[in-house]
Amino acid sequence: EKHALSVFKDFIPKRADGTIIEIAANIGSLEEIEAAQEAGAMGVGLFRTELLFMRHMHLPSEDFQTETYAALATAFAPYPVIVRTLDIGGDKAVSGIDFPDEDNPFLGWRGIRMCLDRPDVFKPQLRALLRASAKGNIKVMLPMVSSIDEVHATRALIDECIAELKAESQEYALFGLGVMIETPAAVLIAPALAREVAFFSIGTNDLTQYIMAADRLNPTVAKLNDVTHPAVMTAIEMTTTAGVQAGIMVGMCGEAAGRPDLIPTFIKMGLTELSMSPASIQRAKKCVQDFG
Ligand code: PEP
Ligand code: MG
Repeated sequence: EKHALSVFKDFIPKRADGTIIEIAANIGSLEEIEAAQEAGAMGVGLFRTELLFMRHMHLPSEDFQTETYAALATAFAPYPVIVRTLDIGGDKAVSGIDFPDEDNPFLGWRGIRMCLDRPDVFKPQLRALLRASAKGNIKVMLPMVSSIDEVHATRALIDECIAELKAESQEYALFGLGVMIETPAAVLIAPALAREVAFFSIGTNDLTQYIMAADRLNPTVAKLNDVTHPAVMTAIEMTTTAGVQAGIMVGMCGEAAGRPDLIPTFIKMGLTELSMSPASIQRAKKCVQDFG
């Protein structure tokens, strides 16, 4: 099967009406670029920045982040690279950020919530993303969004960063700002969110755990963590419809994005970008071609 699929490496899959379906890669470090390119990734749909923050004994500097994001964008040009801002919570350790002890870290101080409370951590990342955008096609998405205020607060910080970079005569460019849809709240306000951002990316891993109220790491409730449950599929459809109606791109970057049994349904709903682990890319391209 592997050999037969390799003919799809450079293939550009389209759905029946001719719209290109972007099959992109989920990666978490520059070391994974090569595997993604060899698989035929049409850009990166999710660059998890957590590893950058967890690898060292200190927070990564703005310059180091700028170089990393710029290298990523250069490698995949002209395709876009979607960088997710830091999505970390009390279940992971980062030197330089003190997390409180929480009974329910998955319902706690993580992702965009933590970042907005810690501009000393968030602003260097936003500045690095603005600077790297001058070197390539970068888009930025916010994890764990549950209210429009979080988007507004992020934009205010981006404006501050731009004013600083201008005053310092640093090169920068604006990036498209999107949100991950991975909380039930985000699904329910999707029509309003869609008017505020450039794109959606549905994070089915967290969306499933939060809709089903079933911890994604708890094997006892693993059976409930099922993306094909009608509640989750309805949430995906509501989100996609809201995005399509507002005219923004809707993608998906959870594990489900790479499932051949679900891809035809996602394409019919209106998703135009699917991001997955490199190993799933060629099979997904074939699937879009055969059934999209
Ligand atoms: C998700 O929640 O679906 C997702 C892609 O993000 P992560 O798995 O990193 O939480
Ligand atoms: Mg997630």
